[in-house]
Amino acid sequence: MDLSFSPEELAFRDEVRTFIAENYPPELRGKQDMGEELAKEDYLKWHRILYAKGWVAPSWPKEYGGPGWTATQRYIFSEELARADTVMILPFGINMVGPVIYTFGTLEQKARFLPRILSGEDWWCQGYSEPGAGSDLASLRTRAERVGDHYIVNGQKTWTTLAQHADWGFFLVRTDPTAKPQEGISFLLIDMKSPGITVRPIITLDGGHEVNEVWLENVKVPVENRVYEENKGWTCAKFLLAHERTGIAGVARSKRGIERLKEIARLEVDGDGRPLIANPFFRRKIVDLECDLTALEFTELRTLAGEAAGRGPGPESSLLKIKGTEIQQRITELVLEAAGHYAAPYFRAFPEGSNEYPIGPAYAHRAAPTYFNMRKTSIYGGSNEIQRNIIAKLVLGI
Ligand SMILES: Cc1cc2nc3c(=O)[nH]c(=O)nc-3n(C[C@H](O)[C@H](O)[C@H](O)COP(=O)(O)OP(=O)(O)OC[C@H]3O[C@@H](n4cnc5c(N)ncnc54)[C@H](O)[C@@H]3O)c2cc1C
Repeated sequence: MDLSFSPEELAFRDEVRTFIAENYPPELRGKQDMGEELAKEDYLKWHRILYAKGWVAPSWPKEYGGPGWTATQRYIFSEELARADTVMILPFGINMVGPVIYTFGTLEQKARFLPRILSGEDWWCQGYSEPGAGSDLASLRTRAERVGDHYIVNGQKTWTTLAQHADWGFFLVRTDPTAKPQEGISFLLIDMKSPGITVRPIITLDGGHEVNEVWLENVKVPVENRVYEENKGWTCAKFLLAHERTGIAGVARSKRGIERLKEIARLEVDGDGRPLIANPFFRRKIVDLECDLTALEFTELRTLAGEAAGRGPGPESSLLKIKGTEIQQRITELVLEAAGHYAAPYFRAFPEGSNEYPIGPAYAHRAAPTYFNMRKTSIYGGSNEIQRNIIAKLVLGI
């Protein structure tokens, strides 16, 4: 494994760093600093800037609009985005359905959907999970019956992230109820404005509206919107989940998170009046966290070196997911601990026109909601228990 960057890679890093510094919208930075909830338009603003530069889909092949970067360049790019704490490019179009369409889709599907995913014109959501079908996804029951050149879809999806904004959704549906669970599933692209679709909010512990229930009642979907063969959707589903898992470790963002934690620990004091960062118990927790993150970073770099040598991500992506999400959660726990009682009265947003000010320092406002929100990371993308099962089977052979 070669960990040093070449002069060309260092020049690339500087180019990315300068681009972000010169082009990242200051109004987004302001909202992030104040801990304000980001609107659809906020996400799209940065998306469009990266699109105009040709950098919005780092992992896509060049022929479909990717920048043609090496694995190391992609790594540097994600490091620089995290370092500058930019808003996330949402994964549902770029990292999930896009690769499914350019790998399994027809020429017409590629021409119709890929350019609009890149430009941000279409916002996508993921309709996989159902009540009773999460970890055991293959037991899903949403039914699609073929009637002429359409499917008629009935059922319910749940936990559908940001479906309230979505123009399109990619859905797993059962097209053959008599086949073995994995064999009777198809992958459909559904226009979220179709009659019969109802999106209902689920408000989470942090008070936010991030996830939804999606109900489908006699929704008419043209057969041409099915990706790959009928009843072979599980192949697309598995391919997509592997893409979902890589990148979920979030090493670069966690590094930035620990930097921020240290800044807070320099400002807050313990019971003896000394900065928290000088308190040996708190300091020890930060050091433990940093050691674990460094170990994770090297595991990620090893995976990267493997990828550069032509080996795809294997079961180590499960390891990256478990350790990465545990670290993300521990950071939010320590920020909460450091913010202390100022983190208790948290607000998502003041009503418009309010002249109230939040209590305590700015970093405390989001400490509790972020702590609650980040519990999700060990559940989504395949829960950490399921990842442990994968490691037990494929790595340890038990
Ligand atoms: C914030 C958030 C956003 C999400 N966004 C989306 C989305 O956009 N689209 C989408 O389709 N889904 C989404 N999901 C759903 C997510 O994929 C599922 O929650 C996840 O797969 C777990 O399924 P479940 O919730 O049904 O839990 P269950 O599968 O019922 O699991 C319950 C518990 O049992 C454990 N468990 C289950 N089976 C086993 C086993 N075999 N061995 C050991 N332990 C086991 C699990 O780890 C978990 O702790 C989202 C979830 C969250 C929390």
